[in-house]
Amino acid sequence: MKTIIEPFRIKSVEPIRFTSEQERRALLEEAGHNVFLLKADDVTIDLLTDSGTSAMSAKQWAGIMEGDESYAGSRSFFRFENKVREITGMKYIIPTHQGRAAEKILATVMGGPGKFFVSNTHFDTTRGNIEFSGAEAFDFLTDEGKRPEVKAPFKGNMNVPALEAFIKEKGAKNIPLCLLTVTNNSGGGQPVSMQNVRETQAICRKYGIPFFIDACRFAENAWFIKTREKGYENKPVLEIAQEMFSYADGVTMSAKKDAFVNIGGFLALNDTELAEKSRNVLIVTEGFPTYGGLAGRDLEAIAQGLEEIVDEDYLRYRIRTIEYLGEKMTAAGVPFLEPAGGHAIYIDARRFVPNISPEHFPAQSVTAELYATGGVRAVEIGSVMFGKRDAAGKHIAPPMELVRMAIPRRVYTQSHMDYVAEVVEEVFQKRNELQGYKFTYEAPILRHFTARFAKLT
Ligand SMILES: *Cc1c(COP(=O)(O)O)cnc(C)c1O
Repeated sequence: MKTIIEPFRIKSVEPIRFTSEQERRALLEEAGHNVFLLKADDVTIDLLTDSGTSAMSAKQWAGIMEGDESYAGSRSFFRFENKVREITGMKYIIPTHQGRAAEKILATVMGGPGKFFVSNTHFDTTRGNIEFSGAEAFDFLTDEGKRPEVKAPFKGNMNVPALEAFIKEKGAKNIPLCLLTVTNNSGGGQPVSMQNVRETQAICRKYGIPFFIDACRFAENAWFIKTREKGYENKPVLEIAQEMFSYADGVTMSAKKDAFVNIGGFLALNDTELAEKSRNVLIVTEGFPTYGGLAGRDLEAIAQGLEEIVDEDYLRYRIRTIEYLGEKMTAAGVPFLEPAGGHAIYIDARRFVPNISPEHFPAQSVTAELYATGGVRAVEIGSVMFGKRDAAGKHIAPPMELVRMAIPRRVYTQSHMDYVAEVVEEVFQKRNELQGYKFTYEAPILRHFTARFAKLT
């Protein structure tokens, strides 16, 4: 088979700044060893996130000029609405400024004390919005999804029996929403099978619980269904996505992922009363229903992006890119969450630096060294982000210590990926020299963004 090439030509470029290792070590020191506190200009390859970092197409940029900025009834809104409706089949399409604004609306109209939200894995902003309303959020991820070394095709699946047991325990009337995240971002970018979508929907229907999909990466998920689930080999990705949404009562989406835009999102749903309540919240928090929290040009770019994301030549290249980076990790012996996800490689820091205990932040140590060694910015998803303390102040580690390298869409080429693999390999070679870290500053909430560290000696 021939190389799967980038299915685009490059018309506009941005320079990358190169720095020496000595410079980077000084910059890292200044940033308190927290890569969130670096200046983006000092980063060579930025894999902090795939959110809002996509390269837009010539047609999307043309859409930016075409955008209709009318306050009400904008032409761009109708193009956006038609496109979202074509893919999701939903009756009511509500634009929001990003994914979390859609979540905020849902949590406002459905949440509150005494309510339990259920999911395969709630994304952190989703959980944040639910908990802010006074409700609680529970995850029911399939067991194999919790084991980084196990290779399975659909590690993002919902654990349906556990979900049903929970519904029986808490009572269906106290569960306002079941939200299935595809692909499962917090669980390693792992996909959910169509069969699992169907089974989850069936349980929700049995108990009368609304079933929604968090669709940030719906096209990447549909590609995995096409290539891994029997019966879907010959079905176009658009039809797979349409089938998936046909089981749902509603959809939330951050368009900053699978719509190739730098800002935007939406809430889409079928229920008239819920749509009315949601629009009322939208008007006070986001804006008039035909623009939400967006400009007309943003709506235009989203509509075009949604057209491009279901292109199978693109998806083949996209998923292959992550898999290619994964193969390089395997060849170098670097432990990572397998199989490769749809948008990122998650290095397993527990096995990478087993000598650093969770309370000394193994994934932070690897993240800092990736930057120092090669200017690659990844993100710590482990004890810094999710660690807690017990009453005695003792560290409670999360189940996994991961370093996520998220790949922005259409931004980096194959040689950039080769370079990233070389940097990871170099850090892996010197893994025995890596040291743990301790906090020198720690904020009371979301501490990973602003924390400062010192190296343990
Ligand atoms: C990014 C993301 C969100 C939140 O979207 P924002 O646009 O960042 O507000 C919600 N769910 C998942 C799965 C995500 O990846």
